[in-house]
Amino acid sequence: MQRGETERLLALRRYGILDTLAEGAFDRITSLAARLLDMPIAIAGLVDADRIWFKSHHGIAVEQVDRIPGLCATAIEGPGLYVVTDARTDPRAAANPLVTAAPWVRFYAAAPLRTADGFNLGTLCVIDHEPRHVDWDRLSILETLAQVIVDQMELRLAARRVDALSSELMAVNAQLRIQATHDELTGLWNRRRILEHLHHHLALARRHRQSLAVLLVDVDRFKDVNDRHGHLVGDRVLHEVARRLDAVCHAGEAVGRFGGEEFLVVLFGCTPEQTARAAERMRRSVSDGPIRVDGGATTVHLSISGGLAVGGGDADPQALLRAADAALYAAKAGGRDRIEAAV
Ligand code: GH3
Ligand code: MG
Ligand code: MG
Repeated sequence: MQRGETERLLALRRYGILDTLAEGAFDRITSLAARLLDMPIAIAGLVDADRIWFKSHHGIAVEQVDRIPGLCATAIEGPGLYVVTDARTDPRAAANPLVTAAPWVRFYAAAPLRTADGFNLGTLCVIDHEPRHVDWDRLSILETLAQVIVDQMELRLAARRVDALSSELMAVNAQLRIQATHDELTGLWNRRRILEHLHHHLALARRHRQSLAVLLVDVDRFKDVNDRHGHLVGDRVLHEVARRLDAVCHAGEAVGRFGGEEFLVVLFGCTPEQTARAAERMRRSVSDGPIRVDGGATTVHLSISGGLAVGGGDADPQALLRAADAALYAAKAGGRDRIEAAV
């Protein structure tokens, strides 16, 4: 028994086939049906809400017709072959405009395009302009070819599902990659990623005899911000500090969150003067203007201290970071809001 029309139309929609371009796979089947049954016309048509749209039409230059009872529209109502040997005298089809006018259908035989879950989506039909008597054995070819069409549609559907799944997978992968390399609070590169960047650029510096420097940054008296305004405001302030450091990064400079309220800047290919200027630029980006959060309700004046270490061709990353940390310690001891270079 055919299920409800709404469900049938939903089933048709899931194949995404309506109004698609002609395809050889379908055209070969209608051409074969016409040849095997010796008919001038063969059509693979899908019955939409108020039209019958032809995925393939052999021997007739029509893309779609209205959904009027008598031919395809009626053929999808039954489970098997639907045959009209002479449409002009058959009360089921005589009033159909395809019978009373061009293309002057007289003989009509159709097999439903039936899905595995029992929906008749349309028909594979053959048409002649003369009344015909074709034995049922030969007509059963139509049923077989109709099944081939449905198989073809199922393959397309499976391919579409694989496509959709693989795009979904790609999106999840991209998301995971971002999560693995970025810090959630600030959006900057995380510790692992900035260290990877440091290792990679140290190797480049070695190979191309370029200079490389690291600047270890620590926010001054950040605990006071948390104590005074709460941890949540502290988070937003930290986010703004990160944004400022990132905003003043030039080509060859990269910043990541090293941990807590510490940031690591890697400067590649800069002269010692450029490196010192970059460090100053970073420092001023934080201290020059107050940080406002909560829509301006909270204003915080902050500064950062920085330890700068310049690496030669065979600098070891750990040694470089240790030197920057010692310089940072000196900057704190020297009164904060300053950059110290490692000796
Ligand atoms: P200084 O570095 O100038 O010596 O003082 P400080 O107050 O910044 O140093 P300390 O290391 O004592 O405190 C750092 C504070 O940063 C403590 C910790 O709670 C806070 N902090 C670290 N990570 C986060 C975070 O993700 N969010 C917030 N709100 N606070 C953080
Ligand atoms: Mg700290
Ligand atoms: Mg600090």
